[in-house]
Amino acid sequence: MNDILPPDSARWEWFEDTVRRLMRRYAYQNVRTPIVEHTPLFVRGLGEVTDIVEKEMYSFVDSMNGDPLTLRPEGTAGVVRAMVEHNALYDGGKRLFYIGPMFRHERPQRGRYRQFHQVGVEALGYAGPEVDAEVILMCRALWQDLGLGEVRLDINSLGQADERRAHRAALIAHFEANAELLDEEARRRLHSNPLRILDTKNPAMQPLVEAAPQLMGYLGEASLKHFDALRAMLDAAGQPYRINPRLVRGMDYYNLTVFEWVTDKLGAQGTICGGGRYDGLMEMVGGKPAPGIGWGMGIERVLDLVQQLGASPPAPVPDAYAIVPDAAALPVVIRTVEALRAAGLAVQLHVGGGSMKSQFKRADASGARHALVFGGDELARGEVAVKPLRDAAAAQTAQALADVATWGPLLRTP
Ligand code: ATP
Ligand code: MG
Repeated sequence: MNDILPPDSARWEWFEDTVRRLMRRYAYQNVRTPIVEHTPLFVRGLGEVTDIVEKEMYSFVDSMNGDPLTLRPEGTAGVVRAMVEHNALYDGGKRLFYIGPMFRHERPQRGRYRQFHQVGVEALGYAGPEVDAEVILMCRALWQDLGLGEVRLDINSLGQADERRAHRAALIAHFEANAELLDEEARRRLHSNPLRILDTKNPAMQPLVEAAPQLMGYLGEASLKHFDALRAMLDAAGQPYRINPRLVRGMDYYNLTVFEWVTDKLGAQGTICGGGRYDGLMEMVGGKPAPGIGWGMGIERVLDLVQQLGASPPAPVPDAYAIVPDAAALPVVIRTVEALRAAGLAVQLHVGGGSMKSQFKRADASGARHALVFGGDELARGEVAVKPLRDAAAAQTAQALADVATWGPLLRTP
């Protein structure tokens, strides 16, 4: 779990601002749900035989009333629960996004933390593949906004439950016929969740996994049509993708479209965003059946990538730094900097006295574009000296304190 401190926190704020602007462009609305949910929500929602539920949840018993509670390991279950609880889909679909911390008890390493942060979207109440295309393409738009050129898109279709059942039987038969090649985890999952064996990271099992029957061969007409329609829209939008038959995703709730955005610039933790359709989840959480699709994006991983090859966020520097040679001037200084701040300027006030020279040093280090010098002579004339700090050619000026509303806004960094 990390502390996020200045100056790094500026990158986070810039990222979040970028995300909020993106969401407005796609007409997705913000949703905020509690960090803590009842444990059964995740057990039911994510599936009992998933990495998260088996070994990654921070679960505890509420000592006041015995409720089994869990720090949310992901965002979808909570959002869907909230929609059900508030009957929010009564007047049609909802397109939502969230930003916030998630918790998983994993082995910490680069790009894998126990408290990490996700942006996610959930589009609920829409069955058609155009929403699949929309949520995928909004990621592309975000990569563009962040200056990330080289993120790869993998897609797959998981079909529907009956199609997966037929495939599952074939898969179990394949693995049983090669039982001696299975590792311990795979043997344990063989009958509970054989699809997850395809997700194995064990290199020794790769040949066996490569040779396994592919779900795509078991999809019916409707599932194939949905997948083909999505592909046609991605093609038309000029978004390249790779069909990855082994992309099954970690949670049980997915059906039809699943996808991941992957980069090879982050070592082993190369997936920066993953998502898919979950048409059965609303009902599983106790609501009326309604389709849904969404994705979750790991902010730490995205910011790691941004730092390597993306845009640099604008440095958060003040427009002006107020130099206070004599504490007696403070009432006038405070009145003036408040007026400037009210006009939208970022103003840093020098605190703690010291010589003019040391105050100018601080002004310089702050990155401010101007120093405001509230010297005795200036104040006696009802003025403040404005000294440009970043432009050697620009001259110092004297400005009337009474006219701060006129000259103040001109100091704003363009
Ligand atoms: P992985 O295969 O890397 O464990 P996952 O399939 O468990 O990922 P999801 O549950 O799909 O991940 O979460 C969506 C995104 O959240 C991931 O693509 C990743 O960017 C990020 N993420 C997941 N777990 C962590 C973690 N422990 N620390 C940091 N980011 C994470
Ligand atoms: Mg994981």
